[in-house]
Amino acid sequence: MLAPAAVTTDKRYTIPDTMQAWVLGDPGQLILKRKPVPVPAKAEVLIRIDAVAICATDLDNIYYGPPALIEGGLPFNKNWTPGHEYMGTVVALGPGVDEFAIGQRVACEIHAGCGQCKRCREGMYTSCHNYGLNYGQVDKGHRANGFTTDGGFCEYQVNHINTLVGLADEMPDEVGALVVTAGTAMYALTELGGLVAGESVAVIGPGPIGLLTTAVAKALGASPVILTGLTDDRLKIGRELGADHVVNVSNVDAVEAVRQLNGGKGVDYAVECSAAPNAVNMAVHMVNRGGKVCLAAFMHEQVPVDIAHVVRNNIYLYGIRGEGKSATHRAEALMRQKRFDAGKVHTHTFALEDLPTAIGYAKNHTDNAIKVVVKARGVARRSVAVE
Ligand SMILES: [Zn+2]
Ligand SMILES: [Zn+2]
Repeated sequence: MLAPAAVTTDKRYTIPDTMQAWVLGDPGQLILKRKPVPVPAKAEVLIRIDAVAICATDLDNIYYGPPALIEGGLPFNKNWTPGHEYMGTVVALGPGVDEFAIGQRVACEIHAGCGQCKRCREGMYTSCHNYGLNYGQVDKGHRANGFTTDGGFCEYQVNHINTLVGLADEMPDEVGALVVTAGTAMYALTELGGLVAGESVAVIGPGPIGLLTTAVAKALGASPVILTGLTDDRLKIGRELGADHVVNVSNVDAVEAVRQLNGGKGVDYAVECSAAPNAVNMAVHMVNRGGKVCLAAFMHEQVPVDIAHVVRNNIYLYGIRGEGKSATHRAEALMRQKRFDAGKVHTHTFALEDLPTAIGYAKNHTDNAIKVVVKARGVARRSVAVE
């Protein structure tokens, strides 16, 4: 590693000059190559990546481009490394860093805001006004690893210390990689008001975010927590994570089912995690008058919503991006206290070299895959560990 004098290393962790890293070529094309190990600057550390989870948004980035934004445009053929849900071990400290120690295990938030715009100053660093302005002459200090800067499908990455969350020693790597996912769930509930104890919550869509929103809502005392979806296997996991009711909406009216489960009135809060085109309109009809709806999924198209109903009934709509307002710290605290087992959404682990296979599992839900994790160390190639 090119280590300037101000970078602190430790002989327990030998850092090579180069590393294995996947880069995105054409849409859907991943190429394994060697890249220099990055060097931490002021307020940054070097992370040895121990586990990285694949997210539906990685698939958007890899196959379509947005929301990845590299050098102001599409991410293809720019030597860019995707992957954004990772955890690892601190192995080098940039100049002036004493907040974290070498050897410490950490989860890594995605968004490091610029720290100087209006939104960053409000703690809304996932809505940084300098999103994507982090290269060359437009370097405003913003980073979103795996979206606007190199991400986690490699062996090492640099992270700003503000993005790090210390992990409990006994938390497995694969679960540590889910802290950011649980942090997004926590952010959704934070924006809806935070004090959800005793409030009724409906969650639409039993993907990783929906399942963990169910778990976090229950851990925070919401009641009842109702999860809707189309897949019985996933709804069963939702029940294990704390849903009071699950509704398979394949053959029933989802809105009517949710309203009936809360005395016919509808719920106080709904969190949309499915990205189904009709789900936003369903969510606004699931909540009661004055209820709040949080939109956590990235829609792929414009969708019709009964805005007259929203206005007449004083319904609030919140869009959220990622894991803002330090929500990952609160999520990790619940996980550390074993208030729910996030590991239930982790289904498969692959070696880093097998990333394309792992992405295939995540994309096609092969073998009922939910959260698929890749690891650079400790997993043999072509072996699939089913938990
Ligand atoms: Zn993600
Ligand atoms: Zn900012």
